[in-house]
Amino acid sequence: MADRKFRVVVAGAGVSGLFMAETLKRARIDFTVYEKTGEVGGTWRDNTFPGLFVDVLSRQYEFPFQPNYNWSRKYAPATEIWAYIKKVARDRGLTKLIRFNEEIVAARFTNGCWHIETAKGNTDVADVFICATGFLHKPLFPDIAGSASFAGASFHSARWNHAVPYAGKRWGVIGSGASGVQITEALARAGCDVTQFIRRAQWVHIRENPHSSWRERLKLRLPGGYQREQRRLWQFINEFDQWRLKPGPQREAMEQEFSSYLDYIKDPELKQKLTPDYNLGCTRIPKSDKNYYEAVQLPNAHIVKGQITSIVPDGVVMADGTQVKFDVLVYATGFDAHAYMRPMNVTGLNGMTIHEAWKEKIYSYGGIALPGFPNLFMLYGPFAPVNNVPVPLGLDQEISCIMRLIGEARARSAAVAPTAAATDRFLARLGTAFPGTVWVGGCKNWYTSQQSTPVLWPFPQSEHKAFFEQVPVDDFQFIPSGQGD
Ligand SMILES: Cc1cc2nc3c(=O)[nH]c(=O)nc-3n(C[C@H](O)[C@H](O)[C@H](O)COP(=O)(O)OP(=O)(O)OC[C@H]3O[C@@H](n4cnc5c(N)ncnc54)[C@H](O)[C@@H]3O)c2cc1C
Repeated sequence: MADRKFRVVVAGAGVSGLFMAETLKRARIDFTVYEKTGEVGGTWRDNTFPGLFVDVLSRQYEFPFQPNYNWSRKYAPATEIWAYIKKVARDRGLTKLIRFNEEIVAARFTNGCWHIETAKGNTDVADVFICATGFLHKPLFPDIAGSASFAGASFHSARWNHAVPYAGKRWGVIGSGASGVQITEALARAGCDVTQFIRRAQWVHIRENPHSSWRERLKLRLPGGYQREQRRLWQFINEFDQWRLKPGPQREAMEQEFSSYLDYIKDPELKQKLTPDYNLGCTRIPKSDKNYYEAVQLPNAHIVKGQITSIVPDGVVMADGTQVKFDVLVYATGFDAHAYMRPMNVTGLNGMTIHEAWKEKIYSYGGIALPGFPNLFMLYGPFAPVNNVPVPLGLDQEISCIMRLIGEARARSAAVAPTAAATDRFLARLGTAFPGTVWVGGCKNWYTSQQSTPVLWPFPQSEHKAFFEQVPVDDFQFIPSGQGD
């Protein structure tokens, strides 16, 4: 029998929300997931643009409780990732535990419980509230004069309009990040006339993406140590792979390798345009499976570097006065990565809202909790390891810790929140770790866009595991049931 007295509400049914849901289900804790759209999958539901592949090994993007032996490639296409996520939700019986098309707009901690309100005006009450609302979720549009005047189809990369045929159109893609690179490459290879507008060049990883052989798929199914061996190998590689964290020969070798990719570009002027002027790794590195640099040298592909000053009905005007014409405009301009659960209105102790708490700067304890917000947890919140630990592995460690904290709180009939002092200590520890990492190389990126400390985990994978296994109970305060307003 599930425990009906104690209840958890989870916001979001992406990878994080589903992982949390499965864990709560196994722990026989009563819960409901609210998902603002009509389908699971989050990122992988929203981003359907051409050329999108997962950037870590497909096998590293699996829930540990449901391996998939059928990935078609080393790095699976986004469509496969989404299909896998939907299958997990179905196979695990999670779909029926999700309230779809129900956005949580407010949550308030009163009398020891979270009082939840949805956009439809429905309410719910829970002991624990978990925000699995994603960190790359809210599309960001640049503030360019005249954007409403564009006469053709225009859309954000996370809202791809599949009704627009590729052929016979001139495409304009604004943005040089991972999405912009992948979209430009895919459109160029599809034979479209495509212009990519970049303000700065990116380091691009040109990688091989072979199909999975039937032998490999078979080996995965066989009993024995093959999977264990694979995991040990990944662990070793990930632990060894520390070039982002500290200077040294490993970083120099990476810099050399990435510089050598630029040699694919024959035209010196184009090479100059696409040569980054900041250190490798400072921004998230776009991955290209078929060679972006070759694609942009096709006669139908164009790179325009500079500032767009205005959007006009049939294209854009650049700062130097040149006009570039096209029929379809794609905003590959990223996300408000510092929004987290916002615009949801979350109110903790003493009427403190999340907007007030984060007004000056974004912070958290371990990326999972906030002082003054008892029994509120975040998955992949601020300072989660978005760059150096595969997301499912990071979630596994975060969720185990959250479950332990929930257990401690229940045992004390209390609600749990990190102390302000422990949060300060955590932030201070991060602060001392950033110098020497690639993320403080003076480039503009989404990790730092609103504050000087990048919202990242600046330690190796093993430290993430150790941190969550050893979170001291003393770092938390327990607020007796019924308190808090
Ligand atoms: C284009 C793109 C490519 C990426 N590629 C990779 C990759 O290759 N490898 C990698 O590791 N990571 C990648 N990421 C990062 C990716 O976001 C994470 O890997 C992962 O999918 C995050 O899952 P999540 O569940 O935390 O968030 P999301 O996938 O963003 O899901 C959040 C869910 O919460 C719902 N939601 C939000 N607010 C509310 C609310 N108020 N009420 C109810 N529901 C709400 C949303 O609708 C959504 O379904 C990529 C991200 C993007 C945008």
